[in-house]
Amino acid sequence: MIVILGGTAEGRRLATWLDGRAVLSLAGRTERPVTVGQTRRGGFGGAAGLAAYLREHAVEAVVDATHPFAAQMSRNAAEACAEVGVPLVRVLRPSWAGHPLADGWAWVDSHAEAAETAAGLLAGRRAGGTVGSNPLEGAVLLTVGRQHTADYLPALGAHRVVARVAEAPDLQLPEGWEVLSSRGPFTADGERALFGEHAVEVLVTKDSGGPMTDAKLVVAEELGVAVVVVRRPKLPAGVPEVPTVEAALEWLDHLPTPN
Ligand code: NAP
Repeated sequence: MIVILGGTAEGRRLATWLDGRAVLSLAGRTERPVTVGQTRRGGFGGAAGLAAYLREHAVEAVVDATHPFAAQMSRNAAEACAEVGVPLVRVLRPSWAGHPLADGWAWVDSHAEAAETAAGLLAGRRAGGTVGSNPLEGAVLLTVGRQHTADYLPALGAHRVVARVAEAPDLQLPEGWEVLSSRGPFTADGERALFGEHAVEVLVTKDSGGPMTDAKLVVAEELGVAVVVVRRPKLPAGVPEVPTVEAALEWLDHLPTPN
């Protein structure tokens, strides 16, 4: 059996291809997960718990198809697979650092820094007269996930914020904040309409990478919206990495047959 560590579109696509040969593992964070084939939900109990699972289920290989920001799970996978001797491959979408527009964005290392940077960019636009002096004029569009919404409250609590998330956070939000629950992929036309409707001035995103959610970056450039990007966390070295689901399937095809 192959274990796919998922929670991403890549994980679901792999599970579709490997139906009958693989189990798709989800963290169990969302109440309405999109599942494919045989699925398990919930943590393993750290690297030691995952190692025990790999032994118990005689797992042949693990594909780490978690989100580029799910660094803890990737660390646990590297440690557990090395300990048990199970082959591991990581599917990692190409970073947006190589995007043709990347040099025009503000790159930051944390959500707290992203929040401060977004507030500073809004203040600059107010000072420059492109946005009025009312703090509720000109919105920040947050596309950083439910788990991190709260990190933006200290710096942006008094501003107008549109937080786009797959599932709404369980938080009391300030007056100027609005939550939009929707899942990608998003089209350029849809993003244009959203930016226009909410008078978006600043976009904040993680460097999720890949093409599924990059329409917002092109539309931001088109409309003169400032962009703040949170850099990816470091992932453990020494794990083979492939950029696509197709390449992961090829990697699996070339694994030696177990005795
Ligand atoms: P994380 O910080 O790397 O992981 C925290 C803990 O959650 C892990 O130690 C593990 O618990 C459990 N876990 C994470 N992914 C799991 C999986 N696929 N199967 C079983 N247990 C898992 O992860 P996260 O950033 O909170 O993300 C949680 C899930 O959401 C991931 O599966 C990820 O692919 C998906 N996701 C994350 C983001 C993001 O921005 N972080 C965005 C989209 C989707 P134990 O230690 O108990 O095993």
